[in-house]
Formats: sequence, C-alpha cells, structure tokens
Amino acid sequence: MIKVSDLKKDFPIFDREINGKRLTYLDSGATSQKPNSVINEMTNVYTNMNANVHRGTYVLSSETTAKYEEVRNKLKNFINAYSSDEIIFAKGCTEGFNFLANSICKDLNAGDEIILSEIEHHANIIPWQMAAAKYNLKINYINVSESFELDFDHLESLLNKNTKVVSIVGESNISGMLPDIKKINSLVKDKTDAVYIVDGAQLVPHRKIDVQDLGIDFLCVSGHKMLGPTGIGVVWGRKELLENLDPVYGGGDMIEEVFYDTATWAPIPHKFEAGTPPYVEAIGLGAAVDYLFNLDMNNVQKHSDDLREYAKNKLGNIDGLNIIHTNSKLAGCTFAMSVDGVHATDISLMLDTFGVAVRAGHHCVQPFHRKLNLDATFRATGYIYNDEEDFDILSNAIEESIKLLT
Ligand code: PMP
Repeated sequence: MIKVSDLKKDFPIFDREINGKRLTYLDSGATSQKPNSVINEMTNVYTNMNANVHRGTYVLSSETTAKYEEVRNKLKNFINAYSSDEIIFAKGCTEGFNFLANSICKDLNAGDEIILSEIEHHANIIPWQMAAAKYNLKINYINVSESFELDFDHLESLLNKNTKVVSIVGESNISGMLPDIKKINSLVKDKTDAVYIVDGAQLVPHRKIDVQDLGIDFLCVSGHKMLGPTGIGVVWGRKELLENLDPVYGGGDMIEEVFYDTATWAPIPHKFEAGTPPYVEAIGLGAAVDYLFNLDMNNVQKHSDDLREYAKNKLGNIDGLNIIHTNSKLAGCTFAMSVDGVHATDISLMLDTFGVAVRAGHHCVQPFHRKLNLDATFRATGYIYNDEEDFDILSNAIEESIKLLT
C-alpha cells in the first residue's frame, strides 16, 4: 500500500505553495516530480566522482562507469529484459522512436507497411512519417472507438504480409487506454513477420512490465516520467533484433575500429550510444528505478487503479464536463477533459489559481483531437504522490471555473 502523506515527504517540490495554495500537481503525464534520492544521487556524482565514462583508467572514471553500467542492470531487472545489453540509453522516448524508425525502415522495401493507432503521441507518428516519406512506405492507423479503445477487428484487417512494423501506445496519455499488449502481439506474430514496438512512456512509470512475458520486440521508455531526470530514456529491444540493426548516430564509443575510409561497430548496447552519454542522468534514473522498485510496482499499479476509479467517479459527476476516458475496467489515471464553449487554456489558468497544475493543449496527440473536433483539452494525470484529496480539489476547482467561465 502506498501512503501518500508519507511518500510526499520524499518530494521537496511539495513544500511549495502556488498562488497561496498547496500544490496540487496533476501533470505527471507531462513529467513526474523527483524524489530527494534522485536529486541527491545526481548531486553526489557531480560532487564526488564526476568523470567521463568508459574513457579513464583512473578512480573517478571507473566509479562513474561502474555506476552508469549498473543502471543498465537495474533496468534489465525492472522490465525483465533477457540481458542488460538490451538496454540502450537514449534521450527519451521521442529519441527512441527516431532511432527505431530510422534504423528499421532503412532495411524495408518500398510499399512495406507500418501500423500505428489513431491515438498515438506525435513521438510515435512523426518519426515513422519521416521514414515512410524517405523509403516509400505506407502508414495505416488502427481505428480508436467512441469509447476510446482500439478496434481489434480493424487491426486484424490491416495486418498482411507487407506489414513490417506495428507500433502502439502502451498506455494512452489522453484516454488512459491500456491496450491488450499480449493480444496485439499474438495477432501480429500470427499474421506477419513484423516487429511490435510498445510506446512505454506512460505505461512503464505506472505498471509492472515484463517484456519476456509480453512477448514484444521493442519498448521505448521515458525516464523523466518515472521520477528520473530529463534527458534520459531507454530503448529496449530483443538482443537478436538489436544486433541486426545499424546505428543511426556515429562517433564516440559506438565503434570497434575506425579507419580513414570506414569503421566497424562496437557490440550492443554501445553500438547505439554515440558520444558522451548522459551518464549523470542515467545514474539519476537508476535512483528512480530503485525508488519505484522499493515501493513495488504492484503497489504502484494498484495505487493508479484505485485513484483512477475514484477520479473517474468524481469527475464524472461534474455537470458540463466532457471526459475523454475509456470505459474499460482497466485504464491509466489520465483524464483529458473539455467544457463546451470554454477554451481549455482558460480553464487551466483558472485551475492554477487554486494551486492545481494541469496541462492544456493537444498533448502531442493532435490528429486524435482533430478527429474529436477539439483543438485542445485540459488533462489531469495522477501518480504515486497524488491521492483522493488532489482529485477533490481538482473537481471543486473545475466546478468553480465552469461557474465563472460559462
Ligand atoms: N509517448 C507518449 C504516450 C507520451 O506521453 C510522451 C511524452 N508526453 C512521449 C511518447 C514522449 O516522451 P519523451 O518526453 O520521453 O520524449
């Protein structure tokens, strides 16, 4: 069980007041707050052991290198990867998708097909669009129903021998949708030889993930949404697939040998990590993984499910509030909302006066907003440091804002 009042003490930001009110932070879908252990660990590296990794033979460099590489192992255990060599550090989920799209699509043939869904984040659309334009590939989008769920019949009808990539969000940053990953995987594997990539930006911070059990091929992870610092994320891929991919960025430690006219690549994971890696951020992410591991991801998941249930009922009772949230029994604690005739930015500005931090905009899911005839929504997302009181405050502030703005 997570006791929010105790846990909040680990997060110094909650000492702040906003507009004279306690901070009600409901924007973890954009980025999570950081516990002291992460902040202190990064300060510790800069204060006591800073040196570039993989390069020095001296004590400081050996210490940072050991800490950096240890994080790979922590992440391996966290998602149950087959090997720590499968953990590739990237700047974030977006860079992960850019790497995968560039590296995978280069080996595809004109006319090959990529399947995404209608509710993808731009990070899982634009890199594929760019690669599709370059290599003459076709992108198909799985329909998302009125109850904000994937249309599996449509997915089945799209799968064919030309399908080479299926890349779908693991937990929607709009509707909280949690697609059945195992079901998608078995459909994809039964009907195609495509790779199945899961966008784990929202999924991995909230739910226990076992990539071996899921049977997927790649997973993109965002460090800053799971208590870690910005500038660090992970691409996990099956070893045999990663070994067959070419690097996209060159330079630094990603080589085995360099000649004036050619070069050979280092083994994975280093083949994909060009230049000085964000080792301090990676070590910070290691502290975040420790924090979540100590809480136990089963508890984190249960907290998300309980809070989502509470928030859904609470927000569902507000007159005049439209909520983009799946009806499914299982979903993330994420609610994109709108009020007819009121711009989402105006509501979020009003909520700020109550100390409530939510985001307004299209949340990098513009095509799906367009499908719903909305240019913007305001979005609340709950995480481990949020409790029922946060959603009480939010609901009350929304009701007051509606009164004032309509
Ligand atoms: N996918 C989803 C579903 C997201 O919510 C986000 C972040 N908003 C991303 C991808 C991009 O992640 P990052 O910030 O790590 O690039």
